[in-house]
Amino acid sequence: MKFDTVIIGGGLAGLTCGIKLAESGQKCAIVSSGQSALHFFSGSFDLLSYDRKGAEVAYPLEEINNLSDHHPYRRIGVNRIKELLSQVAPLLENAGLHFQGDADMNHYVINPMGKLKPTWLTIDDFSIFDPMIGIPWTKIALLNISGFLDFHTRFVASGLASSGITVQVKYFAMDSFEKIRHNPSEMRSTNIAKIFDQETVIDEFIQRVNELSEGFESVLLPAVFGLFNSTVVGKIKRGVNKPICLVPVIPPSVPGIRSQITLFKRFQALGGKYFLGDSVESGTFQEDKLLAVNTVNQGDISLVADSFVMATGGFSSLGLVASPEKIYDPVFDLDVISHDKRVDWVDKNIFNKQPFMYYGVKTDAAFHAIKAGRAIKNLYVVGSILSGANSLKEGSGAGISLLSALHVSDCIMKADSKE
Ligand SMILES: Cc1cc2nc3c(=O)[nH]c(=O)nc-3n(C[C@H](O)[C@H](O)[C@H](O)COP(=O)(O)OP(=O)(O)OC[C@H]3O[C@@H](n4cnc5c(N)ncnc54)[C@H](O)[C@@H]3O)c2cc1C
Repeated sequence: MKFDTVIIGGGLAGLTCGIKLAESGQKCAIVSSGQSALHFFSGSFDLLSYDRKGAEVAYPLEEINNLSDHHPYRRIGVNRIKELLSQVAPLLENAGLHFQGDADMNHYVINPMGKLKPTWLTIDDFSIFDPMIGIPWTKIALLNISGFLDFHTRFVASGLASSGITVQVKYFAMDSFEKIRHNPSEMRSTNIAKIFDQETVIDEFIQRVNELSEGFESVLLPAVFGLFNSTVVGKIKRGVNKPICLVPVIPPSVPGIRSQITLFKRFQALGGKYFLGDSVESGTFQEDKLLAVNTVNQGDISLVADSFVMATGGFSSLGLVASPEKIYDPVFDLDVISHDKRVDWVDKNIFNKQPFMYYGVKTDAAFHAIKAGRAIKNLYVVGSILSGANSLKEGSGAGISLLSALHVSDCIMKADSKE
């Protein structure tokens, strides 16, 4: 099978790259093994939320030049990032995903601990808060469905209480949820969302929420709405007679899965070929070029392309693997930046910055992968498999994935037009 570009990994980075290239007329394929980090999505895409000392960042673009030279943002360059940022909202909007916020100034969202967190783009299900004002309510009703254990109401309530807000936690049952409630492992966010997707429970739910939130300024609810049906959140917001604020819950993330499916559908609608549940196992290299890749499901049939993009994610997606001896890329054994000695991989204080978080595949300045010291001229690297960032501590994960994918897509199209 022959493509213009084959992308390995179908998370946020791989899908962004695939959509951008397909929008430009390329014949693209994405091969993706399984779940991506979007399944754990908080509802917000971070650009840069915390500086190197851990302090909150208000103006992310101003902070980028203070990052280390090895950071993916520094390697893309702040001026180039400013250009690429203008492509993000149209790409998401055209796919059918609506976000609030912009890169000039971070806004706040409520995290699962009831604390405010600075971020860049927030999906429109969630409420965003002006950093100058914070949460504008003093008396909030925090509602949960009885038996739903993945929404930690006590943490949320105590986090909000520490900001001087009065919170009352209330649980309520509805017949429609009793069937899944019999088994705690069934009472998960996605199963609850599937019941709401049918819309038959929405009117009763709205009525209960209105009754229970009588006398409060706003209502906090778990983010369990709209898995396949994106109109559910809007219907609930219109029906409830006061502001609703959704709070992220323990994964699986309902808005995250909806985002993944929406981007996947956009890629397919543009003519992209998505090999779902398949894994790239190996590649055929000739000097400084990758000629073809082979996957588990396609067996002897190789996927041949002019360009390839590595978007296999970090440790959690098996883009990187740690054996007792080394950190490695299990697909092509590309050069990886890491400490040699295992003892240096971790800091014993788990709250400190962990060295392994900065590890990733080595690239040249143009984001070409390096293998045995040599740049592979048609193999690019994007997303969380890149070295040089600690996305957890910085709050930079989605920004790195989106911007590196857009940057590399442009590089591929420019290389294409030269040939
Ligand atoms: C638990 C968790 C929660 C996060 N939450 C947020 C958040 O809320 N906001 C935020 O800004 N950032 C968040 N991040 C940071 C996150 O890394 C980025 O936001 C971004 O989603 C990463 O996208 P990615 O495409 O680079 O990698 P991933 O999302 O990890 O996707 C990689 C994909 O490649 C596939 N793959 C791996 N190996 C192969 C192979 N050999 N062949 C084919 N496919 C393969 C994997 O199955 C996976 O689907 C989170 C990270 C984690 C780990």
